[in-house]
Amino acid sequence: MAGNTSRVGLLALQGAFDAHGRLLRTLGAETTEVRLPAQLDDIDALVLPGGESTTLLKLIDAFAFEEPLRAFVQSGRPVLATCMGVILLAENVTNPPQRSFGLLPVDVERNSYGRQVESFEARSSFAGETFDLVFIRAPRITRTGPGVETLLEHGGDPVLVRHGNILAATFHPELGECTAIHRLFLEMAKQSGRLSRARTGA
Ligand code: GLN
Repeated sequence: MAGNTSRVGLLALQGAFDAHGRLLRTLGAETTEVRLPAQLDDIDALVLPGGESTTLLKLIDAFAFEEPLRAFVQSGRPVLATCMGVILLAENVTNPPQRSFGLLPVDVERNSYGRQVESFEARSSFAGETFDLVFIRAPRITRTGPGVETLLEHGGDPVLVRHGNILAATFHPELGECTAIHRLFLEMAKQSGRLSRARTGA
């Protein structure tokens, strides 16, 4: 965790972690694939990518990742959760109901954007950038709890929210030409790195 370069872990058990890594590296971050719980100790920030949440939960159990992941999120280090990642952290999950970590005060409905067209793109803009929002069998945030800030909406639904150290997108920001969300995430990582260096005197 030397200097000012953030070392970002990509949870690499399942799903679309690769494109996050490519984008973060073009923005100057160092990335590392996290496949074992102990690797969480060596990173400043974590990406929980899109993928298939039921499969992910099985792998989390198989590799005893639940407690270490909870501890990481609760440590205050920044987490970027996209799509499946949002489902994992949510308070309540429906369609079908599924266990989740309850660390992000939102409710989500899985695969909520229609049957025939399960994946689609929609033009949007955030932080001065205009880009396509890419939704892939995406969950819909149906409730945001206290302290959850909606940063971007689409069709009346929150699609990008922030709650403390968690930045959560129901779409795939790593698959469009948008860099603003990953830049915000790296800014959060830098700030949290500075704070922890100040605390430890490192
Ligand atoms: N449909 C997936 C699920 O329920 C999420 C899709 C995604 O992450 N792109 O787990």
